[in-house]
Amino acid sequence: MVQRTKVFVGNIVHCNKPFTVQTLEKGFVVVNEKGKIIAVDNLSALDSCKDKLGSFEEILLNDNQLLMPGFVDTHFHAPQYPNAGLGYDKPLLDWLQTYTYPLEKKYSDTEFAKTVYDAVVKRTLAAGSTTVSYFATLHLDSSLLLAEAAIKFGQRAFIGKVNMTELAPPDYVESPEDTISNTLEFIHKLVAKKCHLVQPIVTPRFALSLDLNDLNKLGQIANKFDLNIQSHISENKAEVEMVRDKFDDLLYAEVYDKTSLLTNKTVLAHAIYLTDSEIELLAERSTSVSHCPDSNTCLKSGLCDVKKLLKAGVNVGLGTDISGGYSTSIMNAMRSAVAVSTHVSFEREDYDPLNVYDVFYLATMGGAKALALNHKIGNFEIGKEFDAIVGEVQECFHPHTALELLQKFIYTGDDRNVLQVYVCGKRVK
Ligand SMILES: [Zn+2]
Repeated sequence: MVQRTKVFVGNIVHCNKPFTVQTLEKGFVVVNEKGKIIAVDNLSALDSCKDKLGSFEEILLNDNQLLMPGFVDTHFHAPQYPNAGLGYDKPLLDWLQTYTYPLEKKYSDTEFAKTVYDAVVKRTLAAGSTTVSYFATLHLDSSLLLAEAAIKFGQRAFIGKVNMTELAPPDYVESPEDTISNTLEFIHKLVAKKCHLVQPIVTPRFALSLDLNDLNKLGQIANKFDLNIQSHISENKAEVEMVRDKFDDLLYAEVYDKTSLLTNKTVLAHAIYLTDSEIELLAERSTSVSHCPDSNTCLKSGLCDVKKLLKAGVNVGLGTDISGGYSTSIMNAMRSAVAVSTHVSFEREDYDPLNVYDVFYLATMGGAKALALNHKIGNFEIGKEFDAIVGEVQECFHPHTALELLQKFIYTGDDRNVLQVYVCGKRVK
């Protein structure tokens, strides 16, 4: 269905430059019928702009409301949603075997998969995540159902059929042949759906799940079809040691680099224990990190020094990492990212922790860049697709500036404060 041109009028906030929040108090954004942003300006320019538009729908925000870019969740295990809030008594490797793999196995049942995946997409959209990069499971059919849920509810998404051939229960691994052929079939079937918002992403679970040969084949597939890649890196000390043992003393990032998996379309979750040379390597390859502060805390994985990554030139986005993390909301991830960075600063001299505006950048432009979508979404630059949220701060007892509203929205808000959500110009909440 063709959409009408929309004119949003009110307080507008977005990051027009790295780590810089631009505010338009009483500004406007015009979105054309294809969902693209065609004008952004101050109110004084509105009348002359309207004269050129023909018919349009006007959305007027009140003084306690804010128009901002939609949030990008760069790391989310959709099948683990039933376990959100459960199982935080074990560290990563035990947690995977005890709670996570037994749950993921159940997605051979496509009815169960459909029920959970519909709930996940509805919940993340309601929380303002206009783009999510999802891990599914090993199962081809149910992974496609996750893609169908994103298409049905209008979310922008990457869907990864997970690859895993070892270090898991015998009834929850694929053979090396199957993991490659199923991945190729998954990619072809998803691309055939011809939904430009929902794309496949190559998803080796982590370095311990596959051998060098299979990792290399996945790197070749990503290269051949020009696909994004997602995985995990250096989440937990025991995991890092096992990687060193398994791959003859290669560093974790070197394993991925050797297998063509470190690209400018790769996002790696956690990155807590990277060495300086690995950080340099990620920066050199323009590979991004998904910072998942809730999961790092819940699984007692460690404190990620995001400022160090950023200083070295590594791009960072935020991830909820359900169900290592408990919350489906990137607003919660923003608050936790500020908290963790502040905790890191307590142990360091002259350390300037992430602030509320920094994490707003990570949640929008940082995430867009991590998924190589920064030319399409992440802010309100003219020509980009309009992925946006209308947020509201309740109980304002006196007038606030747009920047104050943004602070209050991030610190005190949840999905009840996310009033409207748009993906490519289409209202989805
Ligand atoms: Zn994860």
